[in-house]
Amino acid sequence: MIYLDYSATTPLDPMVYKAMAPYFNKQFYNPASIHSLGQATLKDVEDARYVIADLLGASGTEIVFTSGATEANNLALVGLVKALKNQSDKRKHIISTVIEHSSILEPLNQLKKQGYKIDLLPVDKNGLVSLKTLSTKITNDTLLVTIGFVNSEIGSVQAIDRIGRMIRKINQHRYATWLKTSPRKRGDRPGKIYFHTDATQAFNVVDCKVNKLHVDLMSLSGHKIYGPKGIGLLFVKQATPLIAQQWGGHQERNLRSGTLNVPGIIGLTKAMIIADKQRSLFNKKIKTWRNYFIKEILKANKKILLTVNDLESISPMHASLIFPEVLGDALLLALDENGLAASVGSACASGDLSASPVIKSLGYKQAYLASALRFTFGRTMTLAQTKDAVKIVLESYKATLQRRV
Ligand code: PMP
Repeated sequence: MIYLDYSATTPLDPMVYKAMAPYFNKQFYNPASIHSLGQATLKDVEDARYVIADLLGASGTEIVFTSGATEANNLALVGLVKALKNQSDKRKHIISTVIEHSSILEPLNQLKKQGYKIDLLPVDKNGLVSLKTLSTKITNDTLLVTIGFVNSEIGSVQAIDRIGRMIRKINQHRYATWLKTSPRKRGDRPGKIYFHTDATQAFNVVDCKVNKLHVDLMSLSGHKIYGPKGIGLLFVKQATPLIAQQWGGHQERNLRSGTLNVPGIIGLTKAMIIADKQRSLFNKKIKTWRNYFIKEILKANKKILLTVNDLESISPMHASLIFPEVLGDALLLALDENGLAASVGSACASGDLSASPVIKSLGYKQAYLASALRFTFGRTMTLAQTKDAVKIVLESYKATLQRRV
Protein backbone atom coordinates (compact mmCIF):
# COMPACT_ATOMS: atom_id res chain seq x y z
CA MET A 1 0.00 0.00 0.00
CA ILE A 2 1.31 3.44 -0.86
CA TYR A 3 0.55 6.01 1.82
CA LEU A 4 -0.10 9.54 0.58
CA ASP A 5 -1.96 10.82 3.61
CA TYR A 6 0.84 12.30 5.69
CA SER A 7 -1.22 15.30 6.70
CA ALA A 8 -3.70 12.94 8.41
CA THR A 9 -0.88 11.49 10.46
CA THR A 10 2.76 10.45 10.19
CA PRO A 11 4.65 7.37 11.36
CA LEU A 12 6.81 7.70 14.44
CA ASP A 13 10.42 8.44 13.50
CA PRO A 14 12.61 5.53 14.75
CA MET A 15 14.79 8.02 16.66
CA VAL A 16 11.69 9.40 18.38
CA TYR A 17 10.61 5.88 19.29
CA LYS A 18 14.06 5.22 20.78
CA ALA A 19 14.02 8.43 22.80
CA MET A 20 10.57 7.66 24.21
CA ALA A 21 11.12 3.98 25.06
CA PRO A 22 12.75 4.34 28.52
CA TYR A 23 9.92 6.58 29.71
CA PHE A 24 7.35 3.79 29.39
CA ASN A 25 8.90 1.30 31.77
CA LYS A 26 12.30 2.33 33.18
CA GLN A 27 11.71 5.97 33.97
CA PHE A 28 7.93 5.79 34.22
CA TYR A 29 7.65 8.03 37.28
CA ASN A 30 5.22 10.84 37.83
CA PRO A 31 7.01 14.18 37.49
CA ALA A 32 4.71 15.57 40.18
CA SER A 33 6.05 13.09 42.77
CA ILE A 34 8.27 14.48 45.49
CA HIS A 35 10.65 11.50 45.60
CA SER A 36 13.92 11.62 43.73
CA LEU A 37 12.61 9.32 40.96
CA GLY A 38 9.77 11.71 40.22
CA GLN A 39 12.07 14.71 40.44
CA ALA A 40 14.53 13.17 37.97
CA THR A 41 11.62 12.69 35.56
CA LEU A 42 10.50 16.26 36.17
CA LYS A 43 13.99 17.44 35.25
CA ASP A 44 13.77 15.57 31.92
CA VAL A 45 10.36 17.13 31.21
CA GLU A 46 11.64 20.60 32.03
CA ASP A 47 14.77 20.10 29.91
CA ALA A 48 12.49 19.02 27.05
CA ARG A 49 10.31 22.07 27.56
CA TYR A 50 13.33 24.37 27.25
CA VAL A 51 14.55 22.60 24.11
CA ILE A 52 11.10 23.11 22.56
CA ALA A 53 11.01 26.73 23.68
CA ASP A 54 14.38 27.30 22.06
CA LEU A 55 13.16 25.79 18.78
CA LEU A 56 10.17 28.13 18.86
CA GLY A 57 12.04 31.25 19.94
CA ALA A 58 10.00 31.23 23.15
CA SER A 59 10.78 30.78 26.82
CA GLY A 60 10.06 27.58 28.74
CA THR A 61 7.32 29.13 30.85
CA GLU A 62 5.41 29.90 27.65
CA ILE A 63 4.92 26.23 26.67
CA VAL A 64 1.82 24.33 27.87
CA PHE A 65 1.68 20.63 27.02
CA THR A 66 -1.72 19.35 25.86
CA SER A 67 -3.12 16.14 24.38
CA GLY A 68 -2.80 17.52 20.85
CA ALA A 69 -3.76 20.43 18.68
CA THR A 70 -7.51 20.02 19.17
CA GLU A 71 -7.08 20.63 22.88
CA ALA A 72 -4.53 23.40 22.29
CA ASN A 73 -6.91 25.20 19.90
CA ASN A 74 -9.84 24.89 22.33
CA LEU A 75 -7.71 26.09 25.23
CA ALA A 76 -6.41 29.03 23.21
CA LEU A 77 -9.78 30.29 21.99
CA VAL A 78 -12.09 29.54 24.88
CA GLY A 79 -9.41 30.08 27.53
CA LEU A 80 -8.54 33.54 26.21
CA VAL A 81 -12.14 34.65 25.74
CA LYS A 82 -13.11 33.57 29.27
CA ALA A 83 -10.03 35.18 30.82
CA LEU A 84 -10.82 38.48 29.12
CA LYS A 85 -14.44 38.25 30.22
CA ASN A 86 -13.26 37.74 33.80
CA GLN A 87 -11.22 40.93 33.47
CA SER A 88 -14.49 42.72 32.54
CA ASP A 89 -13.31 43.15 28.96
CA LYS A 90 -16.46 43.93 26.97
CA ARG A 91 -15.14 43.05 23.53
CA LYS A 92 -17.07 40.38 21.60
CA HIS A 93 -15.58 40.20 18.10
CA ILE A 94 -13.37 37.37 16.81
CA ILE A 95 -11.89 37.05 13.32
CA SER A 96 -10.95 33.78 11.66
CA THR A 97 -11.19 32.25 8.17
CA VAL A 98 -13.63 30.04 6.29
CA ILE A 99 -10.98 27.33 5.78
CA GLU A 100 -10.09 26.61 9.41
CA HIS A 101 -9.93 23.13 10.90
CA SER A 102 -12.99 21.95 12.84
CA SER A 103 -11.05 22.28 16.11
CA ILE A 104 -11.12 26.04 15.46
CA LEU A 105 -14.55 26.37 13.83
CA GLU A 106 -16.38 24.31 16.44
CA PRO A 107 -15.17 26.24 19.51
CA LEU A 108 -15.93 29.44 17.58
CA ASN A 109 -19.44 28.11 17.03
CA GLN A 110 -19.79 27.55 20.76
CA LEU A 111 -18.60 31.10 21.44
CA LYS A 112 -21.09 32.40 18.91
CA LYS A 113 -23.88 30.78 20.93
CA GLN A 114 -22.57 32.72 23.93
CA GLY A 115 -22.99 36.03 22.13
CA TYR A 116 -19.61 36.48 20.44
CA LYS A 117 -19.56 37.83 16.90
CA ILE A 118 -17.49 35.63 14.60
CA ASP A 119 -16.24 36.95 11.26
CA LEU A 120 -14.84 34.30 8.92
CA LEU A 121 -12.61 35.83 6.26
CA PRO A 122 -12.87 34.54 2.68
CA VAL A 123 -9.83 33.22 0.80
CA ASP A 124 -8.69 33.83 -2.78
CA LYS A 125 -8.24 31.18 -5.46
CA ASN A 126 -4.94 30.16 -3.86
CA GLY A 127 -6.57 29.69 -0.46
CA LEU A 128 -5.00 32.84 0.99
CA VAL A 129 -6.60 35.52 3.15
CA SER A 130 -6.09 39.15 2.20
CA LEU A 131 -4.35 41.35 4.74
CA LYS A 132 -6.33 44.26 3.43
CA THR A 133 -9.65 42.52 4.05
CA LEU A 134 -8.44 41.51 7.50
CA SER A 135 -7.49 45.10 8.33
CA THR A 136 -10.95 46.36 7.31
CA LYS A 137 -12.61 43.81 9.60
CA ILE A 138 -10.68 44.78 12.73
CA THR A 139 -12.67 47.08 15.01
CA ASN A 140 -12.39 48.31 18.60
CA ASP A 141 -14.55 45.31 19.50
CA THR A 142 -12.03 42.76 18.12
CA LEU A 143 -10.34 40.71 20.81
CA LEU A 144 -8.86 37.82 18.83
CA VAL A 145 -7.67 36.91 15.33
CA THR A 146 -7.10 33.19 14.75
CA ILE A 147 -5.73 32.05 11.41
CA GLY A 148 -4.30 28.61 10.59
CA PHE A 149 -0.75 28.61 9.26
CA VAL A 150 -0.99 25.75 6.72
CA ASN A 151 -4.37 24.44 5.64
CA SER A 152 -4.70 20.68 6.11
CA GLU A 153 -6.77 20.11 2.97
CA ILE A 154 -5.19 22.24 0.24
CA GLY A 155 -1.93 23.23 1.93
CA SER A 156 -2.23 27.00 1.50
CA VAL A 157 0.37 28.80 3.62
CA GLN A 158 -0.83 32.06 5.16
CA ALA A 159 1.51 35.01 5.68
CA ILE A 160 1.36 34.64 9.46
CA ASP A 161 4.46 36.82 9.96
CA ARG A 162 2.95 39.70 7.98
CA ILE A 163 -0.42 39.31 9.68
CA GLY A 164 1.30 39.21 13.08
CA ARG A 165 3.24 42.37 12.28
CA MET A 166 0.09 44.12 11.12
CA ILE A 167 -1.81 43.27 14.30
CA ARG A 168 1.16 44.32 16.43
CA LYS A 169 1.29 47.67 14.63
CA ILE A 170 -2.43 48.25 15.20
CA ASN A 171 -1.98 47.44 18.91
CA GLN A 172 1.05 49.74 19.18
CA HIS A 173 -0.69 52.58 17.34
CA ARG A 174 -3.78 52.37 19.54
CA TYR A 175 -1.71 52.35 22.68
CA ALA A 176 0.42 55.30 21.52
CA THR A 177 -2.71 57.30 20.63
CA TRP A 178 -4.22 56.51 24.02
CA LEU A 179 -1.03 57.59 25.78
CA LYS A 180 -1.02 60.88 23.89
CA THR A 181 -4.60 61.66 24.89
CA SER A 182 -4.93 63.65 28.08
CA PRO A 183 -5.66 61.40 31.07
CA ARG A 184 -9.01 63.12 31.66
CA LYS A 185 -10.29 62.30 28.16
CA ARG A 186 -8.71 59.02 27.27
CA GLY A 187 -10.86 56.46 29.12
CA ASP A 188 -9.78 52.83 29.53
CA ARG A 189 -6.54 51.61 27.99
CA PRO A 190 -7.41 49.97 24.62
CA GLY A 191 -7.62 46.19 24.81
CA LYS A 192 -4.92 44.28 22.97
CA ILE A 193 -5.97 42.27 19.92
CA TYR A 194 -4.57 38.78 20.47
CA PHE A 195 -3.29 36.66 17.59
CA HIS A 196 -3.44 32.86 17.52
CA THR A 197 -2.25 30.48 14.82
CA ASP A 198 -2.94 26.78 14.46
CA ALA A 199 0.47 25.63 13.18
CA THR A 200 -0.36 21.90 13.28
CA GLN A 201 0.32 21.38 9.58
CA ALA A 202 3.11 23.93 9.43
CA PHE A 203 6.02 22.77 11.55
CA ASN A 204 7.28 20.19 8.99
CA VAL A 205 7.54 22.76 6.24
CA VAL A 206 7.94 26.26 7.71
CA ASP A 207 9.87 27.83 10.53
CA CYS A 208 7.49 28.46 13.41
CA LYS A 209 9.55 30.87 15.53
CA VAL A 210 6.96 32.78 17.52
CA ASN A 211 9.14 35.87 17.85
CA LYS A 212 9.21 36.19 14.06
CA LEU A 213 5.51 35.42 13.63
CA HIS A 214 4.40 37.86 16.35
CA VAL A 215 1.78 35.44 17.64
CA ASP A 216 0.44 35.39 21.19
CA LEU A 217 -0.79 31.82 20.97
CA MET A 218 0.25 28.91 18.74
CA SER A 219 -0.90 25.28 18.61
CA LEU A 220 1.19 22.26 17.58
CA SER A 221 0.64 18.50 17.49
CA GLY A 222 3.10 15.59 17.78
CA HIS A 223 1.61 13.10 15.37
CA LYS A 224 1.77 15.38 12.33
CA ILE A 225 5.54 15.73 12.62
CA TYR A 226 6.66 12.08 13.02
CA GLY A 227 6.09 12.23 16.76
CA PRO A 228 3.57 10.38 18.94
CA LYS A 229 -0.21 10.79 19.00
CA GLY A 230 -1.87 12.25 22.09
CA ILE A 231 0.62 15.04 22.68
CA GLY A 232 0.73 18.63 21.54
CA LEU A 233 1.35 22.05 22.92
CA LEU A 234 0.08 25.55 23.17
CA PHE A 235 2.53 28.41 23.11
CA VAL A 236 1.17 31.13 25.39
CA LYS A 237 3.06 34.40 25.20
CA GLN A 238 3.91 35.87 28.57
CA ALA A 239 1.09 38.04 29.96
CA THR A 240 -1.54 36.55 27.64
CA PRO A 241 -4.69 36.05 29.71
CA LEU A 242 -5.79 32.41 29.69
CA ILE A 243 -8.09 30.29 31.84
CA ALA A 244 -7.79 26.51 32.15
CA GLN A 245 -10.46 24.42 30.49
CA GLN A 246 -10.07 21.51 32.90
CA TRP A 247 -9.44 21.47 36.61
CA GLY A 248 -7.53 19.05 38.79
CA GLY A 249 -3.96 18.74 39.97
CA HIS A 250 -2.76 22.19 38.87
CA GLN A 251 -0.14 20.93 36.41
CA GLU A 252 1.24 23.18 33.68
CA ARG A 253 1.08 26.28 35.87
CA ASN A 254 -2.63 25.71 36.44
CA LEU A 255 -3.42 25.92 32.74
CA ARG A 256 -3.81 22.23 32.02
CA SER A 257 -4.39 19.81 34.87
CA GLY A 258 -3.58 16.14 34.41
CA THR A 259 -0.55 13.89 34.89
CA LEU A 260 2.00 14.80 32.27
CA ASN A 261 2.38 12.49 29.28
CA VAL A 262 6.11 12.07 29.81
CA PRO A 263 6.89 9.68 26.91
CA GLY A 264 4.78 11.95 24.69
CA ILE A 265 6.64 15.08 25.77
CA ILE A 266 10.04 13.44 25.21
CA GLY A 267 8.82 12.15 21.81
CA LEU A 268 7.38 15.51 20.76
CA THR A 269 10.66 17.19 21.65
CA LYS A 270 12.74 14.73 19.61
CA ALA A 271 10.30 14.98 16.70
CA MET A 272 10.56 18.77 16.74
CA ILE A 273 14.38 18.66 16.83
CA ILE A 274 14.43 16.32 13.80
CA ALA A 275 11.77 18.23 11.84
CA ASP A 276 13.55 21.52 12.46
CA LYS A 277 16.91 20.11 11.38
CA GLN A 278 15.60 18.35 8.29
CA ARG A 279 13.12 21.01 7.18
CA SER A 280 14.92 22.43 4.17
CA LEU A 281 16.06 19.02 2.92
CA PHE A 282 12.59 17.58 3.51
CA ASN A 283 10.96 20.44 1.62
CA LYS A 284 13.28 20.02 -1.33
CA LYS A 285 12.74 16.27 -1.57
CA ILE A 286 8.99 16.14 -1.21
CA LYS A 287 8.55 19.11 -3.51
CA THR A 288 10.33 17.15 -6.23
CA TRP A 289 8.10 14.07 -5.73
CA ARG A 290 4.95 16.18 -5.34
CA ASN A 291 5.63 18.24 -8.47
CA TYR A 292 6.45 15.10 -10.47
CA PHE A 293 3.21 13.47 -9.27
CA ILE A 294 1.11 16.49 -10.28
CA LYS A 295 2.87 17.02 -13.62
CA GLU A 296 2.51 13.40 -14.72
CA ILE A 297 -1.15 13.20 -13.72
CA LEU A 298 -2.13 16.45 -15.44
CA LYS A 299 -0.16 15.49 -18.54
CA ALA A 300 -1.83 12.08 -18.84
CA ASN A 301 -5.43 13.16 -18.22
CA LYS A 302 -6.55 16.62 -19.28
CA LYS A 303 -9.81 16.36 -17.33
CA ILE A 304 -8.06 16.45 -13.95
CA LEU A 305 -7.59 19.90 -12.39
CA LEU A 306 -5.14 21.24 -9.89
CA THR A 307 -7.14 22.79 -7.03
CA VAL A 308 -4.61 25.56 -6.37
CA ASN A 309 -2.61 26.48 -9.46
CA ASP A 310 0.11 28.49 -7.76
CA LEU A 311 2.14 25.71 -6.17
CA GLU A 312 4.40 28.28 -4.51
CA SER A 313 1.51 29.39 -2.30
CA ILE A 314 1.00 25.91 -0.83
CA SER A 315 2.96 23.49 1.33
CA PRO A 316 5.28 21.16 -0.63
CA MET A 317 3.59 18.23 1.14
CA HIS A 318 0.27 18.89 -0.55
CA ALA A 319 -1.25 17.95 -3.88
CA SER A 320 -4.96 18.69 -4.10
CA LEU A 321 -6.65 17.60 -7.32
CA ILE A 322 -10.19 17.74 -8.68
CA PHE A 323 -11.44 14.71 -10.59
CA PRO A 324 -14.48 15.94 -12.54
CA GLU A 325 -17.55 13.75 -12.88
CA VAL A 326 -16.70 11.38 -10.04
CA LEU A 327 -17.35 11.52 -6.32
CA GLY A 328 -14.18 11.89 -4.28
CA ASP A 329 -15.46 9.17 -1.92
CA ALA A 330 -15.90 6.70 -4.78
CA LEU A 331 -12.46 7.45 -6.17
CA LEU A 332 -10.94 7.15 -2.72
CA LEU A 333 -12.34 3.64 -2.38
CA ALA A 334 -11.04 2.71 -5.83
CA LEU A 335 -7.60 4.04 -4.88
CA ASP A 336 -7.72 2.06 -1.66
CA GLU A 337 -8.58 -1.13 -3.58
CA ASN A 338 -5.68 -0.45 -5.92
CA GLY A 339 -3.18 0.15 -3.12
CA LEU A 340 -3.09 3.90 -2.54
CA ALA A 341 -4.22 5.71 0.63
CA ALA A 342 -5.29 9.35 0.15
CA SER A 343 -7.97 11.57 1.61
CA VAL A 344 -11.08 13.56 0.73
CA GLY A 345 -11.73 17.06 2.02
CA SER A 346 -13.32 17.60 5.36
CA ALA A 347 -17.02 16.83 5.67
CA CYS A 348 -19.45 19.66 5.11
CA ALA A 349 -21.85 20.79 7.80
CA SER A 350 -24.67 21.01 5.27
CA GLY A 351 -25.09 17.24 5.30
CA ASP A 352 -23.59 16.72 1.88
CA LEU A 353 -20.89 14.48 3.27
CA SER A 354 -18.33 14.69 0.54
CA ALA A 355 -18.68 18.33 -0.56
CA SER A 356 -15.76 20.30 0.74
CA PRO A 357 -16.32 23.81 2.15
CA VAL A 358 -12.63 24.50 1.59
CA ILE A 359 -12.84 23.73 -2.15
CA LYS A 360 -16.02 25.82 -2.27
CA SER A 361 -14.19 28.76 -0.70
CA LEU A 362 -11.73 28.73 -3.60
CA GLY A 363 -14.62 29.60 -5.93
CA TYR A 364 -15.20 26.24 -7.60
CA LYS A 365 -18.62 25.38 -9.00
CA GLN A 366 -20.92 23.02 -7.12
CA ALA A 367 -20.22 20.10 -9.46
CA TYR A 368 -16.57 20.02 -8.35
CA LEU A 369 -17.03 20.32 -4.61
CA ALA A 370 -17.32 16.61 -3.93
CA SER A 371 -14.67 15.65 -6.49
CA ALA A 372 -11.47 16.82 -4.82
CA LEU A 373 -8.88 14.56 -3.26
CA ARG A 374 -5.86 15.39 -1.14
CA PHE A 375 -2.55 13.58 -1.54
CA THR A 376 0.08 14.47 1.04
CA PHE A 377 3.71 13.47 0.79
CA GLY A 378 6.05 12.35 3.54
CA ARG A 379 9.65 11.84 4.52
CA THR A 380 9.93 8.19 3.62
CA MET A 381 8.50 8.52 0.09
CA THR A 382 10.57 7.36 -2.87
CA LEU A 383 10.50 8.21 -6.57
CA ALA A 384 9.44 4.62 -7.37
CA GLN A 385 6.44 4.95 -5.04
CA THR A 386 5.56 8.29 -6.60
CA LYS A 387 5.61 6.75 -10.07
CA ASP A 388 3.39 3.87 -8.92
CA ALA A 389 1.04 6.37 -7.26
CA VAL A 390 0.63 8.25 -10.57
CA LYS A 391 -0.34 5.04 -12.32
CA ILE A 392 -2.80 4.06 -9.61
CA VAL A 393 -4.47 7.49 -9.64
CA LEU A 394 -4.90 7.51 -13.42
CA GLU A 395 -6.22 3.95 -13.56
CA SER A 396 -8.55 4.37 -10.60
CA TYR A 397 -10.01 7.60 -12.04
CA LYS A 398 -10.64 5.92 -15.37
CA ALA A 399 -12.28 2.93 -13.67
CA THR A 400 -14.43 5.16 -11.42
CA LEU A 401 -15.58 7.19 -14.45
CA GLN A 402 -16.59 4.00 -16.23
CA ARG A 403 -18.42 2.66 -13.18
CA ARG A 404 -20.72 5.70 -12.99
CA VAL A 405 -24.42 5.01 -13.52
N1 PMP B 1 -5.49 21.56 13.26
C1 PMP B 1 -5.16 21.10 12.04
C2 PMP B 1 -4.87 22.06 10.93
C3 PMP B 1 -5.11 19.72 11.80
O1 PMP B 1 -4.81 19.27 10.60
C4 PMP B 1 -5.41 18.83 12.87
C5 PMP B 1 -5.40 17.34 12.68
N2 PMP B 1 -6.12 16.89 11.58
C6 PMP B 1 -5.72 19.37 14.12
C7 PMP B 1 -5.76 20.74 14.28
C8 PMP B 1 -6.03 18.50 15.30
O2 PMP B 1 -4.85 17.93 15.78
P1 PMP B 1 -4.85 16.74 16.84
O3 PMP B 1 -5.05 15.48 16.06
O4 PMP B 1 -3.49 16.80 17.46
O5 PMP B 1 -5.91 17.00 17.82
